[in-house]
Amino acid sequence: MDAEQLREYGHKMVDFIADYYKTIENFPVLSQVEPGYLRNLLPDSAPNQPDSFQHVLDGEVAQLILEFIRLHIQAKILPGVTHWQSPNYFAYYPSNSSVAGFVGEMLSAGLNIVGFSWIASPAATELEMIVLDWLAKMLKLPEDFLSAGQGGGVIQGTASEAVLVVLLAARDKVLRRVGKDALEKLVVYASDQTHSSLQKACQIAGIHPENCRLLKATSSTNYALSPEFLSETISQDLTIGLIPFFLCATVGTTSSTAVDPLLSLGKIAKSNGMWFHVDAAYAGSACVCPEFRHYMDGVEEADSFNMNAHKWFLTNFDCSALWVKDRSALVQALSTNPEYLKNKKMADSKPAKTWFLMYSGKLAKLVASQANMVVDYKDWQVPLGRRFRSLKLWMVLRLYGLENLQCYIRNHIKLAKHFENLIAQDPRFEVVTPRIFSLVCFRLLPVRNNESHGNKLNHQLLDAVNSTGSAFISHTVLSGKYILRFAVGAPLTEEKHVNAAWKVLQDKATSLLAESL
Ligand SMILES: *Cc1c(COP(=O)(O)O)cnc(C)c1O
Repeated sequence: MDAEQLREYGHKMVDFIADYYKTIENFPVLSQVEPGYLRNLLPDSAPNQPDSFQHVLDGEVAQLILEFIRLHIQAKILPGVTHWQSPNYFAYYPSNSSVAGFVGEMLSAGLNIVGFSWIASPAATELEMIVLDWLAKMLKLPEDFLSAGQGGGVIQGTASEAVLVVLLAARDKVLRRVGKDALEKLVVYASDQTHSSLQKACQIAGIHPENCRLLKATSSTNYALSPEFLSETISQDLTIGLIPFFLCATVGTTSSTAVDPLLSLGKIAKSNGMWFHVDAAYAGSACVCPEFRHYMDGVEEADSFNMNAHKWFLTNFDCSALWVKDRSALVQALSTNPEYLKNKKMADSKPAKTWFLMYSGKLAKLVASQANMVVDYKDWQVPLGRRFRSLKLWMVLRLYGLENLQCYIRNHIKLAKHFENLIAQDPRFEVVTPRIFSLVCFRLLPVRNNESHGNKLNHQLLDAVNSTGSAFISHTVLSGKYILRFAVGAPLTEEKHVNAAWKVLQDKATSLLAESL
């Protein structure tokens, strides 16, 4: 790592990225390349000699990186990029970047530490604990989730990893109670609108495939999980000797932003001794606004709560915040303690219980709080190695502040409402589920009530819009209906972009309807 070379390359690369953001609307939002396109552009094996070796010998390092950007990145990579940061990006859910998030990520790449244990970089562990306490307070999470008690927060790469680690913690907790042989009897509950990462987690955790109950949620509850249905299913499972142990609820489902009724679901989980996980990967961000916080009411009943700061919270991917009330459950499921990772502190430390017996009064308090401070995050996640991800979240919180973040969220929700109003003015379209946050689920109404033709029509409309390259939207299926999803949330999106996307949708709909007559 040559410091001067880094300076030269770094400046040039930052210039390139800044120019990219400046001209981002010139690219088709959805990449239009064919599968395998890059194979034709790159050689079969890596070069023996570095690129433009002569330049390096001549000391023209800046020239080398500029050439690399022009010849390789601009010519070969950008055509195959789907521009998630484009203001015309309305697909899936957003994946925000920001100046603070970007430079925080840059700093993390620059320091390049691997913070698996406290001693591997004390700042990484301690900043993560502090910043997640801050974020927990912004979300008004119950105090049990703060690191001062038995709980605490941890940054996972993704919501998928978050649900996996809490499922493993819950599984091992229940197996300690009922005995290891009972694995086959453990049952997981969620609605069929729950993100597929839960199912994947069940596969990894060895939950019997038939014991992952994805209960049907219908339009009658706006696709939220019905507590009565959950209760009935649990009772039936209990009567045949199964062991309900995990419930996953969602605030803002991926298909349609449905919100499960946390309070009643949580009470059912509690009365059955189950672990209750709340997935608010996307909508959690909105809950920093007082007017949306009520969607999380009932989170007091939860054992764990997750939100993706990398979706709609200006923090560059990846940064998924997970909080638990009982961190020892995570540690018991995920810790190993090989000799080569023991640092002096860990090797010397005695289990907390022993400390308590050895000290009393003031000193006990001191020792206990010290024990609390030394978290080894390797025991809260699947991998050993971990990046210094708290830096970018910290910079986002510090450089923008709560009030700006709230304005940011409100603005997107306002734009989504605006889009909803545009739809309402065109009788050929309908909004399908109530808009709650910044996602609008809508469709072109089927002609003469022909639903299957309607599905085909909407699929064609999606393809027609996306192939223009001027906007990118995605779809879902609800109760057998093919539905278009318009998710506002890219940081650069303004009203004019929403209007332009709507115009494309209307124009394409007009031609499709004319063709299908
Ligand atoms: C996006 C999303 C996920 C998956 O997020 P990853 O971080 O990519 O794993 C899970 N749950 C919900 C509700 C989501 O919206």
